[in-house]
Amino acid sequence: MKQTKEQSVVSQADTETDYDAIVVGAGFAGLYALHSLRDKVGLSVKGIEKADDVGGTWYWNRYPGAQCDSQSFIYCYSFSDEIREEWDLERRFPKQSEVLDNLRFVADKLDLRRDIQFGTAVTAATFNEEDGHWEVSTDTEETISAQFLISGTGGLSEPYIPDFDGIDDFEGFSTHSARWPKETVEFADKRVAVIGTGSTGIQIIQEVAKSDPEQLSVFQRTPNYATPKRDRRLDEMEEAEIRANQDEILEKAHNTGSGYPFDSSYETAEEMTMEEVEEILEPRWQEGGFQFFTAFDDLRENEETAEKVSEFVRRKIREQVDDEATADKLVPTDHYIGTKRPPQFTDYYEQFNKEHVSLVDVTEKPIERITATGIQTTDRHHEFDMIIYATGFDAVTGALRKIDIQGRDGLTLEEKWAGGPESYLGLSMHGFPNLFTITGPQSPSLLSNVPVPIEHHVEWITNAVEYMIDEGHRLIEPTKKAEKAWGIHNRKEADKTLYKTTDSYYLGTNVPDKPNVFMLYAGGVDSYHDIILEVAKKGYEGFELTDSIQNLGKSGDTPELSVLNETTTESVSSDD
Ligand SMILES: Cc1cc2nc3c(=O)[nH]c(=O)nc-3n(C[C@H](O)[C@H](O)[C@H](O)COP(=O)(O)OP(=O)(O)OC[C@H]3O[C@@H](n4cnc5c(N)ncnc54)[C@H](O)[C@@H]3O)c2cc1C
Repeated sequence: MKQTKEQSVVSQADTETDYDAIVVGAGFAGLYALHSLRDKVGLSVKGIEKADDVGGTWYWNRYPGAQCDSQSFIYCYSFSDEIREEWDLERRFPKQSEVLDNLRFVADKLDLRRDIQFGTAVTAATFNEEDGHWEVSTDTEETISAQFLISGTGGLSEPYIPDFDGIDDFEGFSTHSARWPKETVEFADKRVAVIGTGSTGIQIIQEVAKSDPEQLSVFQRTPNYATPKRDRRLDEMEEAEIRANQDEILEKAHNTGSGYPFDSSYETAEEMTMEEVEEILEPRWQEGGFQFFTAFDDLRENEETAEKVSEFVRRKIREQVDDEATADKLVPTDHYIGTKRPPQFTDYYEQFNKEHVSLVDVTEKPIERITATGIQTTDRHHEFDMIIYATGFDAVTGALRKIDIQGRDGLTLEEKWAGGPESYLGLSMHGFPNLFTITGPQSPSLLSNVPVPIEHHVEWITNAVEYMIDEGHRLIEPTKKAEKAWGIHNRKEADKTLYKTTDSYYLGTNVPDKPNVFMLYAGGVDSYHDIILEVAKKGYEGFELTDSIQNLGKSGDTPELSVLNETTTESVSSDD
């Protein structure tokens, strides 16, 4: 079905496209991008979303116990006072349904639904080199064209289940946590298996354990350092105080390395005794939330600090678990705290003191296959009525790689990213003109309170498009040299940290055959934001801007990249 061409403000188009821009995804990123490009710039924009409603993460992850780990006063948009005022601050941490309701409210308030096609997955996107636009195909057999293609497909939106033998044989209820049915699922008197003990697994396990199952078996591959959430209702005074200061709180969150409004209290624990470290960490443990991670500035860089903080948490885990052998299995010893996504718990560890809850260590007794009635491990068969796969995501690049994206000269994204993602600023790629990736790989994204970098990206893209319109450019594409410089800068930032010392979805090690490359920008949200603003200020340094596809790649030598530090640019040879 051909779409009707809407009124375009992008006047330089050689040929007509159906829309000025297509935005894929209707989560935090896609909704803001649609609003910003349509209502601020005046583009004709089409949103395409696989789900049958808005919400993204908070639409899909409706499993029991699903809750945000960022505090409610920062897990929100900051761009509109009106929207912020509607955001419920009743609890410290919003539940899944509350975030979803808020995003539904945003969609209605900004009248976004009329431009979003729901229940439609983008399957392919091809850059038409003749006319210089994108042609986007969907699973509803449509092809829609647009000058700009914006992905808001999310870093944790492509569920991953290991390829267990016999997975389809199971005759009971089974689901991945991010594909939870809309109907209520009852656990009472059921024999339930949960596979996976990451952030999601922990939330589900502590909820199922309290729902009177006959038996709950937790299949764990690697234990995690979970820290307390300590969710509670905020009293009126607290809520009033947050509301009175929310501008400053959000401003602060937008200017820290983490996207959270917290400062680190101490530079390092390197010279401290364990007693001194415990004295600093204990109040933070009692307070709950991600503030725990801001006690020491060098937690993610210094092995001595990381070991001391890890040891504190190991002790805390042991204190909560009665059975020593079970505690041994729940205590991580193979990695440092903070080197993978830190989970939060409400009463996770104490569930293992219940008769009906047991832990199966799959490193000792691997899963051989799923059967019609349960799970066969190397030592025995476990009978279940329900199997819940909390096995995570093909993170950061998964949703984008699932789309068959083809740029200039027939280059596919799959080929380009065969050795790991390459980009300029985590926002764009050489060979893929006019394609922007909101919180794409090599940007801070999942290392932070994600709505913050989402807003930074959407505002940067909006300004870039406005600049192009003002300057009469139709196409924008980073140079190969700029992309290479960004790759080097990225690796250098990651090498300063301990992230690479452990397997995690940051490195893609949870998905077989995925290149094991650290995929996020580890230099901090604040520094990253300064860089992309500086790039824009310098007339989009590192990008080639042109009025016609024929001129792309012909603008001669690209200037040096002054925005990245000297060591980075020096190591990119001029003929790259
Ligand atoms: C369980 C869970 C808990 C989380 N908790 C936190 C937290 O506490 N704090 C935090 O900062 N972040 C958290 N996150 C990360 C969270 O993903 C981000 O905070 C944020 O919601 C990302 O928004 P987004 O719009 O970029 O992506 P998403 O919310 O993932 O939305 C992407 C949308 O794109 C759609 N899509 C993808 N591919 C296609 C396609 N080919 N065609 C059409 N549509 C497509 C998807 O259906 C989805 O609706 C959590 C993630 C999960 C999974």
